[in-house]
Amino acid sequence: MRRFDYQRVRDPADAIHAAAALKAPAAETEWPAQYLAGGTNLVDYMRLDVVTPRRLVDINDLQARFGEIDATEKGLRLGALARMSTVADHPAVRRDYPVIADSLRLAASGQIRNMASLGGNVLQRTRCNYFRDVSYAHCNKRAPGSGCAALEGVNRKHAVLGVSDACIATYPGDFAQALVALDAAVDVAGPGGARTLRFEDLHRAPGDTPEVETNLGPGDLILGFTVPAGAWTRRSLYLKVRDRESYDFALASAAVAIDLEGDVVHEARIALGGVATKPWRAHAAEAVLKGRALDAAAARAAGEAAFDGARTRTQNAFKPELGRRVLARALMQAREMEV
Ligand code: SF4
Repeated sequence: MRRFDYQRVRDPADAIHAAAALKAPAAETEWPAQYLAGGTNLVDYMRLDVVTPRRLVDINDLQARFGEIDATEKGLRLGALARMSTVADHPAVRRDYPVIADSLRLAASGQIRNMASLGGNVLQRTRCNYFRDVSYAHCNKRAPGSGCAALEGVNRKHAVLGVSDACIATYPGDFAQALVALDAAVDVAGPGGARTLRFEDLHRAPGDTPEVETNLGPGDLILGFTVPAGAWTRRSLYLKVRDRESYDFALASAAVAIDLEGDVVHEARIALGGVATKPWRAHAAEAVLKGRALDAAAARAAGEAAFDGARTRTQNAFKPELGRRVLARALMQAREMEV
């Protein structure tokens, strides 16, 4: 771990000022200042020397203002500094947005869920081994232009959707899939003022610049998330398949939310995890289901549409079929939910 300076702030304007005050040298790919909340991902990567901020801006004293969980008839408001376990256990979230509660409960160990903030969770970095281990020279995400060791290397857990020739790293989170499926928005404050983004637009696919993972800029601070109410939120769930059931990242996962009229799908919201380079909305799968009776054939057809265009490598050719089955099973389980 390298030396860094530490500032604890009590106001968002002070946080943004402290984070934006350090200018990055032209060649630096990481922002020189990082916000610290739970630290469960950031400190991990600082110990590995993958990220080397010169300043940590501790925002935990903002939790009273930005740690809210507010459920109304219009939807759900979640502050960025709410802890994962608090949100997962909240009665209104469990009843009205079970896909959110599931995604948080299945995301990490109890200790991590107690520490980690929602804002930090959605910004967690990939677990690609070549990214995490600085002894590997070829990683375009960590060292732009150096190549991608995973393309012909160990790539069993890598992505098959949203990949590029520069990077195939999997987005590792779970909660983000629930937000994408439910058309959430994210509020951001930064040096240029406040703005609201569709959550689906927060993360970027790698393209030619895998080192740029989001549409946030230096000093931008996530304040919270808004999930609109909808007839589909109660019949929703998150299904996650992983190597170790106790604690692991997804090999394939599905966040589904459906509004049924009898057996017929009136609306469907679907996002996929463990298989894509960013939280992945499966619009084509939703279109397959709309207006169709939800049975095993329809669920399978949705899976086929979701993975149309998947690009596999040597070790992850199993992922499209696993992903199709996970999505189909999630849809059939959602059909049986009592709402
Ligand atoms: Fe780096 Fe992405 Fe390639 Fe992994 S997949 S080695 S993160 S460029």
